[in-house]
Amino acid sequence: MKTYTGIPASAGIAIGKAFLYLEDDFPEIPRYAIKKVQVDSEWERFGKAVAGAVEEVQALHDQAFKKMGKEQADIFKAHLLMLEDLDFHDQLKNKLKNNLQNIEWIIWELSRELTQKLMASPDPLFRERAVDISDVSRRVINKLLSATRFSLADLKEDVILVVHDLLPSDALVMNKARVKGLAMDAGGRTSHTAILARAFNIPAVLGLSVFSREIKNGEKIILNGSSGIVVTNPDKGVLVQHEGEEKRFRKQADLLLGLKDLPAETIDGYRITVKANIEFPEEAEQVTRYGAEGIGLYRSEFLFLAPGKSAEEEEQFRAYRHVLRTMGKLPVTIRTVDLGGDKIIPNLQSPYEKNPLLGWRAIRFSLAKPELFKTQLRAILRASVDGNVRIMFPMISGIEELERARSLLDEAREECRKKGCAFAEDIEVGTMIEVPSAAMTADILAEKSDFFSLGTNDLIQYTLAVDRGNEKVNYLGQPCHPAVLRFLRQTINAAHEKGLRAAICGELAGDPAATAVLVGLGLDEFSMTASSIPPVKQIIRSVDFADCKALAEKALDGRSVDEVRSVVREWMANKFPGRNYEA
Ligand code: PEP
Ligand code: MG
Repeated sequence: MKTYTGIPASAGIAIGKAFLYLEDDFPEIPRYAIKKVQVDSEWERFGKAVAGAVEEVQALHDQAFKKMGKEQADIFKAHLLMLEDLDFHDQLKNKLKNNLQNIEWIIWELSRELTQKLMASPDPLFRERAVDISDVSRRVINKLLSATRFSLADLKEDVILVVHDLLPSDALVMNKARVKGLAMDAGGRTSHTAILARAFNIPAVLGLSVFSREIKNGEKIILNGSSGIVVTNPDKGVLVQHEGEEKRFRKQADLLLGLKDLPAETIDGYRITVKANIEFPEEAEQVTRYGAEGIGLYRSEFLFLAPGKSAEEEEQFRAYRHVLRTMGKLPVTIRTVDLGGDKIIPNLQSPYEKNPLLGWRAIRFSLAKPELFKTQLRAILRASVDGNVRIMFPMISGIEELERARSLLDEAREECRKKGCAFAEDIEVGTMIEVPSAAMTADILAEKSDFFSLGTNDLIQYTLAVDRGNEKVNYLGQPCHPAVLRFLRQTINAAHEKGLRAAICGELAGDPAATAVLVGLGLDEFSMTASSIPPVKQIIRSVDFADCKALAEKALDGRSVDEVRSVVREWMANKFPGRNYEA
């Protein structure tokens, strides 16, 4: 038996067999010497692999052309040209003859040489070409090796998935019904994989460092997503203890569902709106079960990230309409796409940006692709007649971006009018406050916003310079940092001074340990993973607003993370003795 401690990322307890899923960029590439007489047969193998790759890329090109238009299809056209580039073929053949090694290795070596040269260039066009070369080479090597990777969509039995890292796009395709728990070396509570695990109600422990290297396939595991503990080969006593804890966890969760129809109101009558965050349209059906009074954050980019999704205007329109119809009169805030960072569409964005989190992400990407952006805005506008929609822009860093986004929204309105498409005229437009510069200039942004929503996942990341997905620095990403608290206060005050409502939709909103202090800061609305609503509502209904305000004041006086944490922890321990709330 061995115990590991990671970051509790999605509550619940799973007991089961480990399934190791280790993703390498390339399949292992064999390297062996060949004889002179084998050169021709190696070259023949290469010819066949190229023909197969050309067929694949041609199909991708046609699909992209139909669904996304010429600009995206051209990427595949470039790949086709590269596959058939005689100069590249000559270089390969010379290397093959001179080095007398198998063709897979020759391709790998040549592509590495070329990409390294191109990546060193200051010209982004050359760096992008490097991405294309490695993509094309990888495709041909895969053909030569007939490499077919196991897909998580094909999981046939219940497992606890053990990975080093899992891209959100992998998480999207996995057979969720079979994944009973997720253990991951990388990541933190606010990484997108953690957010997805919570959306799927899969218990998860992240930031386990080297766990995936130490565990064997099929080993028995207990994974406690509430405490962050993972136990391998547990002995009988530990197993029985966790089985009991699992039952208690379920019972408590069922009990809290009883609060569903009660208002999120403090004892002295301060009313807070609680809403749900969703990533997929189908989630909308579930959220009212937990008492959500609307959707405060619909992360629309997941429509684009699911493999095989084209996200044309019609498809987007149908998805948004589905959410709006499901929610009826309840408000739904659709956040325009936050693509980039760790949510990349390979055909549109480079996976080789040097600093993706500081790069071509969210509103920056949307503003650079006005046609894509307006397509999304038109889809939202057209769906708006079917419900109560609001639009929100991610990662605004200053007033120019907000003004530009709003003017593209006006253009999209005009285009709808021209096409005779009806839409609601009075849609509120909100700004996510998740960059320090936005928090600092919240008073200015408030002039052009109808509401604010604090994206604390990114606000913490950017304020404290801590990559939210990096387990090595995760310990620094503390909401209790005085700088974070000051930004929250400043933003909320700026909103209130201009008569706007201030919401929070980062993961902090769903942490009961932080609820009282967030209430005290004066937030009007909390939006979180639906299953977090009942425990947060329970706290709201057990406290006085006046006391929470005093707590927030005291927390704001704290000089360090530790000071703030102990103020909040002590307050919670006094108020809720016997419960363990770790701020
Ligand atoms: C946030 O940054 O807090 C947020 C809600 O947006 P996301 O987690 O999607 O980046
Ligand atoms: Mg964000």
